[in-house]
Amino acid sequence: MSSSHVTLGSLVGHAKQIGLLTRAIGADRVGGAYLFAGVAGLGKKTIAAAFAAALNCLASHDDACGVCASCRRAADGNHPDIAFIRPDGATLRIAQIRELQRLISLKPHEGRYKVFVVTDAEKMRAEAANALLKTLEEPPGSGVLILTTRSIDAMLPTIRSRCQALRFLPVPVDDAVAGLVARGVDADRARILAIRSRGRVGSAIAMLGQEAPPAEGAPSPIGDSRPMDAFRLAAEWQADPGRLEALLSWYHDLLLLCTDPSAPVEHPEHVHALRALARRETYSSLRAKMLAVMDATHRLRRNISAPLTLETLALQLVETPLTSPWRRANLV
Ligand SMILES: [Zn+2]
Repeated sequence: MSSSHVTLGSLVGHAKQIGLLTRAIGADRVGGAYLFAGVAGLGKKTIAAAFAAALNCLASHDDACGVCASCRRAADGNHPDIAFIRPDGATLRIAQIRELQRLISLKPHEGRYKVFVVTDAEKMRAEAANALLKTLEEPPGSGVLILTTRSIDAMLPTIRSRCQALRFLPVPVDDAVAGLVARGVDADRARILAIRSRGRVGSAIAMLGQEAPPAEGAPSPIGDSRPMDAFRLAAEWQADPGRLEALLSWYHDLLLLCTDPSAPVEHPEHVHALRALARRETYSSLRAKMLAVMDATHRLRRNISAPLTLETLALQLVETPLTSPWRRANLV
């Protein structure tokens, strides 16, 4: 597992779900099987790891203390009673499930529980899922199985009905900011990360270790309506398709500001220019442009002619003049 000691109490957001897990440990009513469901990047695996550590902590009863021998091993990823089972390529193989079943039936080495976290559980094929059903029907008393999935609907109903399902959602931006600040992240940076990750705290924390993109790398928003500029832009995008992705983040900011001029944005350093631009656009025109960028990205992935796709996109985007504010802000 990643990094330092993770405790349930130190996690950001998801208070209801974490409260439920904490109370279950405290009351000795830990379920045999849990299903953590929610989109990627929410921190489901981190929460599972914290739950596993809390279940086996030697010092504290309802959370991990973070410092005992068991918590240290859990944090280092070498606790003998905690295992993560990840898909081997595109699928979780039946051999992996059979090995899990063999191990979960044994007594814990040193902890109170044997905890198995099966990640991306929707990648189990029917054969593996059916094998797992046996364990879910008769879980050994000291075994705890945590399945994580991006989509609860992708799980077989027979699996779902035998697990206690916890659904996770992106956390509100303000909560994510507060949580990141509590972890020692500078307030401005916390706000940018919270917005950029759209409240997916796992993603925000993963971004922490990365350098902020240099200002030079910021996308050139569309700044001119002349067709010749459109062709220049198309050539630039073809040379560096990452710019299209970046372009989306600018349109996302404009959309936010269009509905709320004081909304927190991904590019706070350009907020004045962005506000000026947002005033000249309508929500529907911005939305149409954003969709055009997404559509072009999709076409490129399908190997549809890059020059044609990008020139068409550039012409669509420059149709409405967006000249002066960009120039004033030296964005183009
Ligand atoms: Zn501990």
